[in-house]
Amino acid sequence: MTDFTYAVDADGVATITWDVAAKSMNVMSTQAFARLSDLVDLGLADPGVKGMIITSGKKDFAGGMDLNVIAEMRAGGAQAIFDGVMRMHGVLRKIELAGMDFKTRKGGKPIVAALPGTALGIGLELPLACHRIIAADNPKAKIGLPEIMVGIFPGAGGTTRLVRKLGAMMAAPFLLEGKLSDPKAAKMAGLIDEVVAPEALLVRAKEWVLAAKDADLVKPWDDKGYKMPGGAPYHPAGFMTFVGANAMVLGKTMGVYPAAKALLGAVYEGALVPFDVALRIEARHFTGVLLNPSSTAMIRSLFINKEALEKGANRPAVADQSVKKLGVIGAGMMGAGIAYVAALAGIEVVLIDAAQDSADRGKAHSADLLDKGIQRRKVTAEKKAEVLGRILATTDYAALAGCDLVVEAVFEDPKVKAEVTAKVEAAVGAECIFASNTSTLPISALAKASARADQFIGIHFFSPVDKMNLVEIIRGKQTGDRAVAKALDFVRAIRKTPIVVNDARFFYANRCIIPYINEGIRMVAEGVAPALVENAAKLVGMPLGPLQLVDETSIDLGVKIAKATRAAMGAAYPDGAVDAVLFWMADQGRLGKKSNAGFYAYDAAGKREGLWTGLAVQYPHASDPDLTTVQHRLLMAQVLEAVRALEDGVLTDIREGDVGAILGWGFAPWSGGPFAWLDMIGASRAVEICDALVQAHGARFEAPKLLRDMAAQVQSFYGRFAAQKAA
Ligand code: NAD
Repeated sequence: MTDFTYAVDADGVATITWDVAAKSMNVMSTQAFARLSDLVDLGLADPGVKGMIITSGKKDFAGGMDLNVIAEMRAGGAQAIFDGVMRMHGVLRKIELAGMDFKTRKGGKPIVAALPGTALGIGLELPLACHRIIAADNPKAKIGLPEIMVGIFPGAGGTTRLVRKLGAMMAAPFLLEGKLSDPKAAKMAGLIDEVVAPEALLVRAKEWVLAAKDADLVKPWDDKGYKMPGGAPYHPAGFMTFVGANAMVLGKTMGVYPAAKALLGAVYEGALVPFDVALRIEARHFTGVLLNPSSTAMIRSLFINKEALEKGANRPAVADQSVKKLGVIGAGMMGAGIAYVAALAGIEVVLIDAAQDSADRGKAHSADLLDKGIQRRKVTAEKKAEVLGRILATTDYAALAGCDLVVEAVFEDPKVKAEVTAKVEAAVGAECIFASNTSTLPISALAKASARADQFIGIHFFSPVDKMNLVEIIRGKQTGDRAVAKALDFVRAIRKTPIVVNDARFFYANRCIIPYINEGIRMVAEGVAPALVENAAKLVGMPLGPLQLVDETSIDLGVKIAKATRAAMGAAYPDGAVDAVLFWMADQGRLGKKSNAGFYAYDAAGKREGLWTGLAVQYPHASDPDLTTVQHRLLMAQVLEAVRALEDGVLTDIREGDVGAILGWGFAPWSGGPFAWLDMIGASRAVEICDALVQAHGARFEAPKLLRDMAAQVQSFYGRFAAQKAA
């Protein structure tokens, strides 16, 4: 075990260097933690050692805990988790007290954390236990506690220490939102103590160790008369914070995220007791969170599997297909966004539209976004010039020469797309891959316009392109492996998360979103209070209710899709009741947010004011289903479609189904995705719910055969499919 090495210099300063072999980023394992503990003991026991520096042998300090450790801990059950966490607290507390006599607060050895770069999770919790945190001035470094993003919270003392260091209010964005900062911002916020030039990091750390006095080693919370900044819960100021925080967090999370609740519990209860008791309380809440299936599911989807997909888990074994020069045809909302993210990633872009001013407008979108970045001090003027310099806005197809990937984002019309395909293929080399950003048209049909169908693929971005991280890659019937690899390498370069699906109507994401919206609208037609529909969705963790979602995406788009689907399906079309509402809304000129009128009412500035009262006049209140039934309808509408997509072979990997659902349309992130949710409730309970819904609401809720089989065999999705694709 060589994750940590130890060396003492001639001045009696020991340096503990963290450098995990064969990994580009340090992550903490159980064995490494034990080794760190031994080395700290060594330094504390050696009379020749005056103090210690804990640093990294890599360009970054650490990315966090090895998540396999968390899986191991979980396997041992509650007591094992609690004991393991308490052992970690013991080691960090040993560093913090550093051998001092606790009565006199004297005689400890200074221990400083020297961070060359990124320090996340345990990579910050460990420094927080040291006596001083010095970071290199590395603007690329990210410092913070992002645990909440994957459904847990900082459980190695980070919660307790940060709240005592900054106060509950100031610590809130770091703990509750997982806010990350660069070193300078982290210093400003009080997260760390000093920022120095990278080359001075270790020199300055040593200087601090040698100059440190007894008083420098005593943490405020170990000092007599310590008071929590901003006030503890029963201090008048603290009272306001704690009452407010509780309401704010529940308002934001709707109570479905166990980690947020547990974090608040740890902070509140911890604030009322001495530090060491607070650590025990933190450990108990942390244990509870680790045992909650939501945290397992969130870590699996939002961290482990998301990363696996980004690294190319489903990439065909084809040589590197990095994109050197990208063509984008159609400089509208989507094309302009695609050009921006590609240029930002350093790719040369040719942005083509039918008219020069349209192409220029598309390029101006990048300028606008970069200007916003400049306002927020995230982008420099040079960076803006550099990125814009990579985008050529033109009408001239000849400029596409040398492109190795072209993405079209012209009107959603097969004829227009076919013309563009032919024009592009005439202008580019034989190796160029052609992608369509269509949201509804089957790729295999569009590929008929191509002379090279094996090089034709779907790359489906979500709007707005710069914000939405999912990209759905669609393999047409004839799409070859090189095209898939090209699309994946492109998505990787622009740092988004890909899923690869097979071709079918609406691919994967839209296939699941549409039934969700439709189910909401159908309930309106039945006379269910629209507020119940919207709130039921939010209370189960959907970021937007179905009616708000259709307002955002626009009601006329809904009408267009409904008409096209009806034309394709003929008599089998099941959504007449939905269309009656949708078409009526469109006839009223209520096209959604963009027209300042939809299922919601909007003020002149476009701010949502509440559900439109006219809806209740047209569809009077006639039905009062209970909350759970409404939630089951809304969830099953999406989830059963995901299962059918798997059954049909559109999805080939449940990991993509779960990650894609959360990133693509915000499917209840606390659940880890539709398949994870089904695993949580169990296949037989799911079938039971479906059977009841079929009785009351119709055949669309019929449990797919796969789900029934799994119920009969008492199987879970991750149990059944994990063997196929290592999760
Ligand atoms: P848009 O109307 O904003 O942009 C289309 C652009 O294509 C326009 O600038 C138009 O001038 C240009 N164009 C049309 N015909 C052209 C031609 N022959 N040659 C060159 N340029 C031409 O549309 P959009 O919302 O950006 O959508 C574009 C594509 O992306 C569509 O296929 C759409 O289905 C798909 N898509 C849209 C969204 C979305 O949310 N809007 C999401 C995913 C995918």
